[in-house]
Amino acid sequence: MDFSIARRLMVEQQIVRRGVKDPRVIQAMLRVPRHLFVEEALWSQAYSDFPLPIGERQTISQPFMVAYMTEALQLTGTEKVLEIGTGSGYQAAVLAQLASRVYSVERLAELARRARRTLDQLACRNVNIKLSDGTIGWEDEAPFDGIMVTAGAPDIPSEYLDQLAIGGRLVIPVGNRTSQVLKRVIRVGLDRFSEENLLDCRFVPLVGQRGWKEEEV
Ligand code: SAH
Repeated sequence: MDFSIARRLMVEQQIVRRGVKDPRVIQAMLRVPRHLFVEEALWSQAYSDFPLPIGERQTISQPFMVAYMTEALQLTGTEKVLEIGTGSGYQAAVLAQLASRVYSVERLAELARRARRTLDQLACRNVNIKLSDGTIGWEDEAPFDGIMVTAGAPDIPSEYLDQLAIGGRLVIPVGNRTSQVLKRVIRVGLDRFSEENLLDCRFVPLVGQRGWKEEEV
């Protein structure tokens, strides 16, 4: 299987056709070898139009969702970005192509370890991974120009709003445990935020102090 051809088809048929336009996002989706972020038995499905299991009952998001959320952050290359839910590390690798530094938090040790190994293999040196509860953000590294949450939250933790730079963008799925609305919040002033609903989505739950309780999921 020629993965670069699979990637090109993925970008044309799933991403550009559905309206993603940012040429830098398209380039990043063409460049990052998504198959390396899943186990070898799933390589033939790595560029298909659905999420895939990555172990520990978690999933790597559908390619379109990765591209769409990335575009929603409106990155130009100079930004400091926080991702919550490292998972496989794929989304972090895409962000690493488009921002200056990526800080990514994962609560499950095995996933954090594997993501680090994959990102090292690909020489993604501008990604920092922390094993921790990401529902409280990453205060020591704030403020962030972009925050992307890749797990579904019951509501928006105030920590994320506090850790956004002025002009910064937060993209987060908010809803119940099985379905959410993807929201974008822009910090337009010190105490002023604008919020819009982007689309309906389905993420695994954000589990932690400001998310769902472990026994609820
Ligand atoms: N962005 C990932 C996919 C994320 S799946 C990728 O590209 O592969 C959601 C991830 O969020 C899972 O790995 C899950 O363990 C993690 N997660 C859930 N709650 C979390 C929390 N409070 N802090 C950090 N990570 C969390």
